[in-house]
Amino acid sequence: MTDLKIGSVTAAPGTRVRGVIPVTQLPGGRPLEIPIIVLNGAQPGPCVWVDAVIHGDEPEGTLCCHLVDAVLDPAQMRGSVVLVPVLNVPAYEAAQRGNPLDTFSYDLNRIYPGKADGYLTERLAHTHSIWLRDVATYEISIHSGGAHSYLSETIFATTDEKAIELAKAMGAGWGLILKSFLPKGSPPAVMFEAGKQGITVELGGRPATSPRDFDRCGRVLAEGVLNVLRYYGVIEGQATRADKWLTGVQHALLAPTSGLFLAEPSLEFQKPMKKGDRIARIMDVYGDLLAEVLAPVDGMIFGLRALPNVQTGDWCCFYAEIQGEL
Ligand SMILES: [Zn+2]
Repeated sequence: MTDLKIGSVTAAPGTRVRGVIPVTQLPGGRPLEIPIIVLNGAQPGPCVWVDAVIHGDEPEGTLCCHLVDAVLDPAQMRGSVVLVPVLNVPAYEAAQRGNPLDTFSYDLNRIYPGKADGYLTERLAHTHSIWLRDVATYEISIHSGGAHSYLSETIFATTDEKAIELAKAMGAGWGLILKSFLPKGSPPAVMFEAGKQGITVELGGRPATSPRDFDRCGRVLAEGVLNVLRYYGVIEGQATRADKWLTGVQHALLAPTSGLFLAEPSLEFQKPMKKGDRIARIMDVYGDLLAEVLAPVDGMIFGLRALPNVQTGDWCCFYAEIQGEL
């Protein structure tokens, strides 16, 4: 086994080292850098790389990284784990989807592999891309509904068999794997283009930030990551599996009009619905019905908007058209 070198970190076999990947300088003189926790196993094996806070309003992944780090012992590991608890630090500091000081490359999850001489966030993406591509065997991008929505346990993967295998490795409770045919602009796209595998995992969002709910999201995500580590033999233990895996495509349902968005109180995430079933009503200020949001096809809801106040074109509902089992 050899040392694992990433950014400022050199982790000898069997050790855990915290450090950063330097990107550039900020106007006040502070460095822009990517914090990393590198756990280099004592024995050889794959490198599983976990990216949190690609969007700054999605801190569930940060808690997930902390929980995973707390239970790993690199002296007992075969392979390595790289945890990025906060990828887009300026966006995290602002608790916004992107860095509010970079309006030209605001959404980090749309601009991969970035550019060495591009806008600020493009440079961050570029630096991250290079290390990810060179070091990682598998990548897990952790997302949530952020400030705008709640998303239930959902994975986006390419239709490549090995990507589906990685998605299935998240284990029990992760039975919805939607297709992202050719991922573009995201860290999994960098992996895909390098002939390797990355997945996008979604859980949580602003409606689930009460102490109990946020803790649950972090723990469910961490258990999924640990299950991936068990599946690929990085840590000991029997990996769990979902009872079955449904697959299909996402429909993002946008508000047909502005008003008060009243989702049906009986709605449940990932329960089968029929085309035409009512998801929500949108009311005007006097309480009169303006519009209904209906299921566009047979399928299921996997996410809903956070705020009942809605304006035309806002994200309302994340709807999965189910096309079969994997
Ligand atoms: Zn996100």
